[in-house]
Amino acid sequence: MLNIQSFSYHTHTNFSDGRNSLEDMVQRAKQIGFTEMGVSDHLIVHKNMKQDVSWPLLKDVNARHVYNDDFKSILEKYKRHCDEIRRVSKQENFKLYVGFEVDYFPYDGWEEELKWFISQLDIDYLHTGNHFFCEEGFEHIINMTFFKQVCPDTSRYAEYVRRHFETMKRAVESKLFKFLAHIDYVRRYGDDVCGVDEYMLEKIQVLDALQKNDVALEISTKGLRKIGDFYPSAPILQAAAKRNLTVVISDDAHKPEELGMDFDKAEDIIKKYGFNKRLKF
Ligand SMILES: [Zn+2]
Ligand SMILES: [Zn+2]
Repeated sequence: MLNIQSFSYHTHTNFSDGRNSLEDMVQRAKQIGFTEMGVSDHLIVHKNMKQDVSWPLLKDVNARHVYNDDFKSILEKYKRHCDEIRRVSKQENFKLYVGFEVDYFPYDGWEEELKWFISQLDIDYLHTGNHFFCEEGFEHIINMTFFKQVCPDTSRYAEYVRRHFETMKRAVESKLFKFLAHIDYVRRYGDDVCGVDEYMLEKIQVLDALQKNDVALEISTKGLRKIGDFYPSAPILQAAAKRNLTVVISDDAHKPEELGMDFDKAEDIIKKYGFNKRLKF
C-alpha cells in the first residue's frame, strides 16, 4: 500500500444513500489498511425540493430521505449522525472525520441557512458535489438522474449545463468547502448533455476558482465504475495540472467494497500529470 493514498474523505453510509452501516464501512477501511476516513453523507436541502418536476419520480427510489426542503426539521437527525460517527470512531479506535457532501444552491438566503445549520453541528469539513440542474435564479431545480425524462427539449440542455458549472464555481468561491467532488459527473448522463471536450470555458472557470480559493479538486475513481473514466476527464486534469491545483483521491464509496477501489490507477494519474499537492487533514 506504500505510495497509495490510504484514506478517503468522500464516503457514504446508509444515513444517506450508502448501502451499509458506518460500522461496516469502518471494518472494511481497517481491513484494506486505511489510516483514517472521512464520512461525508449527503446534505441536500432546497426550499422547493418537492416542487422539482422530477420529485414524483423519486418515490420509487429508496433514497428519498436524502432530499430535504428545510434545514431546521433535519437538524436533530444530523446531530445524532455526527454523534454516531464520533462514537464509532472511539469504539473502533479509528480516526473518522465528520463531513458532508453538500449540493450548493445559490438562491437568496440559502447560504445563510447552511451556515446556521453547520454552526449547530460538530463537524470537521464539508465538500461540495452537485447533483441538480437549476432553473434561472436557482429557485427551482431538477434532479439530474431524471433530467432527460422531465426535460425532453434538448435545445435547453446547454443552459442547464452552463448553470451547473456556474453553481460549482460559486460553491468554490463560498470557501465553505475543502474540495470539489466529481467536477464533470454530468458526463454520466450522456454526450448529448455534456461531452468530454465541451463546456471547457465553464470548466476552466471552475478550475480558476479552485486555484484562487485554494480548494482541492477531487480525482474520483467512481467515474471508472460508472462511465469507465475518471472524474475529471483528461482535458480537465491537464488544465488542473497547469494550475498546480491541490488534489485528493476519492472512491465516493457507497458500499464497503468500493473503499479504496482503483486508488492505484488514480495514483498513476497523479504521477502522469505531475500533481504535487494533495489534500490531507
Ligand atoms: Zn456526489
Ligand atoms: Zn458522494
